[in-house]
Amino acid sequence: MGETQTVRFGRGIRHRVQDFLTELGCERALVLSTPQQSNTALDLAASLNGHVTGIYAKAAMHTPVAVTEDALAHAREVQADCYVAIGGGSTTGLGKALALRTGRPQIVVPTTYAGSEATPILGQTEGGVKTTLTDPAVLPDVILYDPELVVSLPPGLTITSALNAMAHAAEALYAKDRTSETTDLAIDGLRAFRDALPGVVADPTDLDAREETQRGAYACGAVLGRVGMALHHKLCHTLGGSFDLPHAETHAIVLPHAIHFNAGAVLDLLAPITDLFGGSAPGSSLWEFSKSLGAPLTLKELGLKETYLDKATEIALSKPYWNPRELTADGIRALLQNAWQGSAPAG
Ligand code: NAD
Repeated sequence: MGETQTVRFGRGIRHRVQDFLTELGCERALVLSTPQQSNTALDLAASLNGHVTGIYAKAAMHTPVAVTEDALAHAREVQADCYVAIGGGSTTGLGKALALRTGRPQIVVPTTYAGSEATPILGQTEGGVKTTLTDPAVLPDVILYDPELVVSLPPGLTITSALNAMAHAAEALYAKDRTSETTDLAIDGLRAFRDALPGVVADPTDLDAREETQRGAYACGAVLGRVGMALHHKLCHTLGGSFDLPHAETHAIVLPHAIHFNAGAVLDLLAPITDLFGGSAPGSSLWEFSKSLGAPLTLKELGLKETYLDKATEIALSKPYWNPRELTADGIRALLQNAWQGSAPAG
């Protein structure tokens, strides 16, 4: 399965899951969620009129292999012929991991802006080590974006999840393998969040603004699936993987600093950010946007100890991703110091 996707947006579109199951030729869906969203999964399962064979509500951050194996045993026991993931990147990750192992189709009903549903990328964790693979077999077959489902996303996660999505687009602007098409997609994603995120923060129940942010999330996710990521994503993977920092919040805090650092080499390629968000320095533009929304600004508030910054620098440099600006230990250490204490992007 995978390779091509059907993508739909709209209020109440979650009620059409059954139509898409029928189109896929599936009759025994296993509905997936996190424990926190088990009621949302129950509601969805109840609407599937007998096309559901079970609910597995133990999805967890970073797709632990042990959870996938437990879910796989459950899927076999209930003879599931497809997966319906309702939730954020953690739940989508579980659906992808199951699809990889069984070749069964997946429908994703996203409830955050992380964008995983639009990529053929899967990160999995085993023995404390996260590995990432790219395989068309994990690209979900159908995505149904229902703005009514993101209304319950807590205000803090609404902002950080949006900044997580924007980070995919920002790094796509200077990706080594970018094309004019991926750059246009990245700009579309950034523009959607610029236009709609302040409205969503002011009124989380504004469904028009919520739908616009979901369109942004899809564009940002799609671009993440098409080009390679650089320093920003490497730093976030380091901080999440080795220091257990939360995914969306870490992206939100690091983004302005990583973009500022790379603007030192590719200011011209980052011009769409200043065009969209104002100012003359793209890192500062994003920092001001984050501040205006009340986003977290310091790694310190996520519980990271200052004494870990040297180790984080070392790990980030150990297997670096391609980056448009040369990476030095002093440069990365200074970047992390600013992100830790919440200073304006500099250096
Ligand atoms: P998440 O899926 O872990 O969700 C965070 C918490 O918010 C969970 O408790 C969840 O149940 C809850 N939640 C989600 N939506 C909600 C809603 N609408 N209302 C109330 N609660 C809600 O967080 P995430 O940031 O979406 O995903 C992070 C994971 O996704 C990470 O493991 C990351 O590596 C992965 N990811 C993968 C890709 C990829 O392409 N493979 C891309 C982005 C993120």
